Amino acid sequence: MISDALERLYDELPSGVKLVAVSKFHPLSAILEAYAAGQRFFGENRPQEFAAKAVQLPQDIEWHFLGHLQTNKLKLVLPYASLVESVDSTRLLDAIDSWAVQAGKKVRVLLEVHIGAEETKQGFAPDEIQDILVNASKWPGIVFCGLMGMASHTDDEERIRADFACIRQLFSSCRDSFPGLGDFRELSIGMSDDWRIAIEYGATIVRIGTAIFGRREY
Ligand SMILES: *Cc1c(COP(=O)(O)O)cnc(C)c1O
Repeated sequence: MISDALERLYDELPSGVKLVAVSKFHPLSAILEAYAAGQRFFGENRPQEFAAKAVQLPQDIEWHFLGHLQTNKLKLVLPYASLVESVDSTRLLDAIDSWAVQAGKKVRVLLEVHIGAEETKQGFAPDEIQDILVNASKWPGIVFCGLMGMASHTDDEERIRADFACIRQLFSSCRDSFPGLGDFRELSIGMSDDWRIAIEYGATIVRIGTAIFGRREY
């Protein structure tokens, strides 16, 4: 049951850690079930699905976008996203900034960090993150709210710990180096299989799908 899974998570998550229920591939009815249990933060990773759900579901839901975002899909995402967790290129930053300036809005984003060994992963290398934050004023339409990352896909807990330690260290050093970025507070790490470990490494946001909604049917 979705509500039982949520209750268990609410009991176990420290206060101050935001639970984003990752509802991708699940129907509106599943999201409404979670909503009825009190859940208000949801995450999606495909622009079309994100927009369709955002317009049909209750307006007090806070939507996080957490997938790869192509610059020609911004219109589907930015009007509804309270946080874009997955900014993975300066090209995308530029495009979001243009949209924001034109719309007279600020868009809150996390920079996605490439940690873990897998070649296929999106995201910035740690030194690229520092370079962006040094130049944060180049993107007046963007609010830099923190970092997002995924640990290596492995059962090796030591490996996962090393990945989280790495991103946490980067997060701390960014906070120390750029105290003027007052909104840079969020560390989004941890999914269904590793969120308990992520909490130990200072997660402020966990993104949990399978452990709430069950397996996704692709
Ligand atoms: C799908 C997804 C999640 C949730 O994964 P689960 O293992 O189902 O909890 C978290 N973060 C991102 C970026 C995702 O794409």
